[in-house]
Formats: sequence, structure tokens, C-alpha cells
Amino acid sequence: MLSRIWLSSPHMGEHERIYVNEAFDTNWIAPLGPHVNKLEKEIAGFLLQKNKEELDVAVLSSGTAALHLGLILLGVKAGDEVICQSMTFSASANPITYLGANPVFVDSEPDTWNISPVLLEEAIKDRMAKGKKPKAIIPVHLYGMPAKMDEIVGIANQYEIPILEDAAEALGSSIREKMCGTFGQISVLSFNGNKIITTSGGGAIVAHDGKLIEKARFLSTQARDPAPHYQHSQIGYNYRMSNVCAAIGRGQMEVLPKRITQRRANFEWYKHELSNIDGIHLLQEPKDFYSNRWLTTVLIKHPSINRETLRLAMETENIETRPLWKPMHSQPVFKDAPFYGDGTAEKIFDDGLCLPSGSNLKEEEKERILAVIKSVFNK
Ligand SMILES: *Cc1c(COP(=O)(O)O)cnc(C)c1O
Repeated sequence: MLSRIWLSSPHMGEHERIYVNEAFDTNWIAPLGPHVNKLEKEIAGFLLQKNKEELDVAVLSSGTAALHLGLILLGVKAGDEVICQSMTFSASANPITYLGANPVFVDSEPDTWNISPVLLEEAIKDRMAKGKKPKAIIPVHLYGMPAKMDEIVGIANQYEIPILEDAAEALGSSIREKMCGTFGQISVLSFNGNKIITTSGGGAIVAHDGKLIEKARFLSTQARDPAPHYQHSQIGYNYRMSNVCAAIGRGQMEVLPKRITQRRANFEWYKHELSNIDGIHLLQEPKDFYSNRWLTTVLIKHPSINRETLRLAMETENIETRPLWKPMHSQPVFKDAPFYGDGTAEKIFDDGLCLPSGSNLKEEEKERILAVIKSVFNK
């Protein structure tokens, strides 16, 4: 059997082990330590680039934990409503329910596959007419493609609803050089094993308002009040990133620019190789948008071939591909949640497939992938 080609697997650089050894040598094997502090500064520096804004970052045990704390910091409580992009990974929506709040799902638009600004405004107006103003909006940058943040931020400001930006898949993506992860009142990153860089498991919460991040650090370390004994006046969480994971993260931050280049090169390679095959469509970047191309995704629109034909043919050759995120409004667990949509996400889900996109894809693996696609499309 040929070796398995993964959708997206961890890709270490050269310094991760050195930093991890440093953590061992100094016995900083705890959910705090010098790597944690340095990683936070390095992430903030990367997100700001030449930008002069203020930005603070706290690294956490996962992106999901970051979303949970983000909602708490925005004051979301039981019974509140939170608007969430329907087409996304369940981790974008689950933390809403951890708080006893209720998700309201909004459909995608076809240019970026992310939340439709038109339907977002429709949803806000309708919820307000029903007597419930949403407490937050969660847009997502799927597969690294930025959502239409100019319009989304405009609407959020107009109705004075804060944005909790889920940038878990979009580290390094930007719109006119403003980085994804800096658009929200609060933004969230993930360093899970399949993301563009990884700490094995981990995430970050990001905000321009340093007080929010200070509060995130407090809540993520069991909400200990300043006292020699253990004193608590609020419910806390154990959500901080360990110094060992942060050590991996520091090595990964050094190679992040290279990983973005490699992922984008994968996309360009697919685009070039698939250009003469009718029925496969790749997602283009709208003007001024820059995607990290975390995953290369295609839509199959062909009279006799569908995404399952291609997925199963790939699987036979031990190549992992995956359907796109199944929209949350069609998930059994969220069947009772309100939804504002026109069928766009469902269509994209029906036709879409994620192709192997690791920054460590080898030439011979690319040839195997292409051979399957060509045989399915009879080229
Ligand atoms: C990965 C991911 C998350 C969750 O991040 P974890 O670190 O795995 O908890 C949230 N939202 C989206 C869109 C993701 O892809």
C-alpha cells in the first residue's frame, strides 16, 4: 500500500526542539513561563506587521477555549443570542451553548464562502424586531480566505454589536495588509495539529484593548484574586497554554512566513494543473484579499462526477480529502436554531472538497494526487 497522503499534517521547523529542550533544561514545564510570554509578543508582532495599532495576545490551551473566553469577555450570558457564520467548524458555535446562550446562524456568500453581509444585516434587523438584539457576531475566515470584513465591521459598528473574529484558519491572511486576527473587538487563533502552524494543541485570544487580555489571563488561570491563599470572586477556567507547547509555537512562528508561501504555492500548483479540466473550480481571492491558502478547496460542477466520486477515488489511492464544513444550521445538534439564508452554504457543501494542502507535500505525492484527478475526469 502506498503511504497515506494527509490533508494537512504538522510541519516542524528546525528550532522547535531547541526551545522545548530549553523548557526542560530550566524545568519550566508549567502553564506559564518564558516561552509563553515570548510567544505572545511574537504573535502580536506578526499580526501588527508595520501597523501602529495596540495589540495584546494571550496564548491558551485551544482555539475553542479562546472563543469561550471571548464570549464571556463580551458579556454573553444565558438566554442571549449570538450570530454565527453557519458554514464553519462546530468549534465556532459550540462555546455559545457552553454559556447557555443561543446561536443564530447566517448563510455564506459565494465570493469568499464566509458570512454574507446582506444576510447578516437582515438577521440583525429581524432579531431586533423580535425584541432580542444579538450580543456578538462571529465571522469566520474559512480555509484562510478572509470574510468581507469591510462590510461586516461596518454593519457591526452601525448596530453597535461587537465582533468575535474566528481567525483559527487564517493566521497570515489579510485584507489590504491588515491581518486577520485584528478585525474583531476580540479575535481568536488556533494552533491545533492540522492548522498552518501548530503547538500540538493550542490557541490564542487577541484584542486591541489590553484590559480584555489581562482579564483573559486571569480567567484562564482559575480566576485567582490577589491574595496569599486561594481566593475567588469569579468562576475561573484552566485554559492557559503550557510552556512546553509555547516552545513549539516559537519555533513554528519562525517558519510561519515560509509555511504561508508553501501553502500558497500548493494552491497555484493545483490551479495550474487543473486549469484544463472542466468541472473543477477553485476559489479566487477578491481584490485586496490575501489568503494563507491553509487548505486548497475545489467545487465540482460536472454532469456525471460529484465530490464523492473524487473523494472515494482518492481514498482508494490512500489520499485523504474531505468535504467542506457542513453548515451548522443543517447539523442535528443545532436543528432548532434560527437561520437566515438563501441556500449558498448548502450548495457549497454539496459540491466542495478539500484537497491535500500540507506545506510538507512532496513532489511525488502531488503527482499521485494529480493522477487520480486526471483519471476521474478522464484526462
Ligand atoms: C480549528 C478551528 C477552531 C478551534 O480551534 P481548536 O484549537 O481546535 O480548539 C475554531 N474555529 C475554526 C473555524 C477552526 O477551524
